[in-house]
Amino acid sequence: MYKDIATPTRTKEILEKYGFSFKKSLGQNFLIEPNILHRIVDFAELSERTGVIEIGPGIGALTEQLARRAKKVVAFEIDQRLLPILADTLSPYPNVSIIHQDVLKADVQQVIAEQFMDVDDIMVVANLPYYVTTPIIMKLLTDRLPIRGMVVMLQKEVAERMAAKPGTKDYGSLTVAVQYYTQAETVMHVPRTVFMPKPNVDSAVIRLLKREQPAVSVINEDFFFMVVRASFGQRRKTILNNLMSQLPNGKEKKVQIEKALENARIDPKRRGETLNIAEFATLSEQLYHIFY
Ligand code: SAM
Repeated sequence: MYKDIATPTRTKEILEKYGFSFKKSLGQNFLIEPNILHRIVDFAELSERTGVIEIGPGIGALTEQLARRAKKVVAFEIDQRLLPILADTLSPYPNVSIIHQDVLKADVQQVIAEQFMDVDDIMVVANLPYYVTTPIIMKLLTDRLPIRGMVVMLQKEVAERMAAKPGTKDYGSLTVAVQYYTQAETVMHVPRTVFMPKPNVDSAVIRLLKREQPAVSVINEDFFFMVVRASFGQRRKTILNNLMSQLPNGKEKKVQIEKALENARIDPKRRGETLNIAEFATLSEQLYHIFY
């Protein structure tokens, strides 16, 4: 077994050897604690038949741990300066492929079709760059990839919003969007001290297990999410007021919106954050006929 990349000494050695300087704008905070990495990998429940997609391998700290446990790891890295470093640090692992690309612009579906022909399941495992955590997760979910799920490190507050329950301060349109596709659970809190450089925020690891079918069935997904966003428009407003002010020509449709709420058995004085996903689905079905 090779020495772990993710120790403070080895990480410093690698960075010095290549004269690498961190780019804050790319969310570069590298993990320097192998025990945290082992736990992240444990939560992903990999087998030697699993294909793993990683986003942002950095100098390969997590990639190496994944390569030891999975059949194959495909990692997207945006920063060209890291490519020669990764070629060096990951040379003992022939089951790793690095793709030099912004994951937000990548055709991940195509990459899966080409790289994971012979695996039993696919997991996304990553220590995500904080500046684009939500767009990355939403892209991977809305791309409808054939993945079992994701185990990802992100800003603690964002993890709490994704895994929130109705009626709590963290519950919002991001919660509904994530839980529409997955079962979400925060599995670990991570202190700032295990990163180099230390970030200004606390971190958490969230596990998102993809549902076989979305949590609710709706006629039109875009409209469903429009209703969800409208309902959370201004948190202190009632659902009726939010729908009227946020939906197109909502004010003119007050009577119909009130009727839709009544049909959905939702008190117009409730606030958006008290509705569960099933209630949002019923409400969007009732409103759909008014707007289309
Ligand atoms: N996995 C490493 C670790 O845990 O030590 C590094 C994680 S660091 C938080 C985030 C990594 O994502 C950096 O290597 C950064 O260059 C890369 N990155 C940032 N934006 C990206 C994007 N849009 N697509 C792919 N990689 C990105």
